[in-house]
Amino acid sequence: MGAGVIGLSAAWRAAGAGWTVTVHDPAPARGASWVAGGMLAPLTEGWPGEEGPLELGTASLERWPGFAARLSAAAGLPSGLRTRGTLVVAVDSADAGELRVLAGWLAERGRRAESVGRRELSRREPSLSRSIRGALHVPGDLSVDNRALLAALRAACVSAGVRFAAERVDDLTAPAADQVVLAAGVGSAALHPLARVHPVKGEILRLRERPGTLPRPGLTVRGVVHGRHVYLVPRDDGLVVGATQYEAGHDTRVTVGGVRDLIADAETVLPSVAEYELDSAQAGLRPMTADNLPLIGRVDSGTVLATGHGRNGLLLAPLTADAVLAELEGEPLPVAASADPGRVLW
Ligand SMILES: Cc1cc2nc3c(=O)[nH]c(=O)nc-3n(C[C@H](O)[C@H](O)[C@H](O)COP(=O)(O)OP(=O)(O)OC[C@H]3O[C@@H](n4cnc5c(N)ncnc54)[C@H](O)[C@@H]3O)c2cc1C
Repeated sequence: MGAGVIGLSAAWRAAGAGWTVTVHDPAPARGASWVAGGMLAPLTEGWPGEEGPLELGTASLERWPGFAARLSAAAGLPSGLRTRGTLVVAVDSADAGELRVLAGWLAERGRRAESVGRRELSRREPSLSRSIRGALHVPGDLSVDNRALLAALRAACVSAGVRFAAERVDDLTAPAADQVVLAAGVGSAALHPLARVHPVKGEILRLRERPGTLPRPGLTVRGVVHGRHVYLVPRDDGLVVGATQYEAGHDTRVTVGGVRDLIADAETVLPSVAEYELDSAQAGLRPMTADNLPLIGRVDSGTVLATGHGRNGLLLAPLTADAVLAELEGEPLPVAASADPGRVLW
């Protein structure tokens, strides 16, 4: 249950393997998956000591190109995948130090990351601010247009025979099904005691290019400005700028302060941002766990959990779908024990 990126990916995968699938959701594809930025970026998201998320994220990232190609063919629609890579920029000397740590950590793990000096950066990405001190180019980190992805997943589900029931489920024993997959994002917590997720709010902006605007960067740009993380993810018609992160219960109202900070930080990185049309500002709720790893696996003979994907649900969708199908079929899971829903969470 739940028609976000996780529930739809699992439903499509299970239907393709011959299962009869019904997805219950009163508001399909309008949760966190609709709001998200679309980075598929376990490498630039990584940091020494955070090997668990890196391992899980890269295992899913490797599946993305094949997943996207199969999805696009099944749906007859683009998957939204973009393969241009990611640039992490340093705005001040502290950020430049952080970039060196990240570069060293990725190199130790055999991941490609190339330092780009100030002069080379302005040659490659002339629209970025001249005040940027340097950058790290990580070609392996990709992105996806989340809304194109959701449209493709829904179309692929329909053509695989998945049925949609536009209803909220308040009791996991209510659906007449042999197996229930709980993939209700932040709504999961109310439905099973092991679905230990809490909402972390994120605000995000969608900007549309106007005639005469300097060409936007071709790849994802992320940076830290005054200690706040900001990213700019290219779309066919503009940019997505994200994202704030704080705890505010289930509130999804966009705050003036959130929009102000996002615009200010984006402008520090990309001065021409002020020229764009502000298309929309939205807030979504990330389903976070206490250790920043998802909860994927069987919790009883009739229930499989697929939730708690926090900041990385789009990235982790292909791996989660494979894991859910393996669990349904009684096969070994392709996810590390770190995603076990029964693990101790602090
Ligand atoms: C601002 C922001 C930026 C983000 N950026 C990225 C990013 O760049 N990359 C990335 O990988 N991830 C990103 N994320 C995280 C990502 O969006 C989530 O991890 C992912 O969307 C979770 O997917 P989901 O399917 O579990 O949840 P959702 O998309 O929230 O879907 C859950 C669905 O369950 C349904 N539901 C809830 N309760 C019930 C119920 N009782 N009965 C039936 N249905 C129910 C809801 O209606 C909803 O449709 C971002 C999130 C936010 C908020």
